[in-house]
Parts: sequence; C-alpha cells; structure tokens
Amino acid sequence: MQAFADSGVRIAVAPVVDLGRLALYEPRRRTVTVAAVGVRMAPGTVAALLAHEGTHVQDFVSGRQAAEVRALGRVEACYVEELRASLVELEMWRALTHLMGSGFPSGITRTG
Ligand SMILES: [Zn+2]
Repeated sequence: MQAFADSGVRIAVAPVVDLGRLALYEPRRRTVTVAAVGVRMAPGTVAALLAHEGTHVQDFVSGRQAAEVRALGRVEACYVEELRASLVELEMWRALTHLMGSGFPSGITRTG
C-alpha cells in the first residue's frame, strides 16, 4: 500500500469486468481501478487484488518495469512482472488465511 501513497496513485471503483479482469493499473491515469463488483467482495479479496496491482505500481514508479523491458524485451518483462505480482498476491492470501485461522477463503478452489 505504500506504493500507492508514494506515487500518488488513487484507487477507484468502476466497471472493468468488461475488460476481463477484476482490477487494472493505468500508469498514465495514476489510477488502480477495482471492478464495481469489488464492493460486494470480502475485504480480503480486495486486499489481494490491491496487493497484485500495488506490485505493478511499485514496478512502474521505481523504474524496474522499464529496466526489465530494456533487458528482457516487452513480452518477457510482462511475464516477469505478472509472476512477481501474482506471488505478492498469493502471499497476501497466505497471510490472510493464516490470520483468519482457516483454510482457503470461500470461492477459492484448491487444485492438485
Ligand atoms: Zn497483473
């Protein structure tokens, strides 16, 4: 969450589901938008979404994203950034489930 404060990125709620995602970071607008359905989600779900998008914010404002694009090319850099954001998101889920003392939150399906 510090990345949001440090970069002046605002958090908005708007219909972005049509784009096929629940949240979206737009660097030019300095905005992370959470899908309107987010107002009905469990707070932990929104926290996990913001952890993911916050990683993108941090990568952009720190210059890490640009450096990885130069070093790896746009496609590989995108994969690396999404992997990093997904790992942060998963860590948020792990922390939340540990705090709540239960298994996976409802709506999350275990695989394997
Ligand atoms: Zn992402």
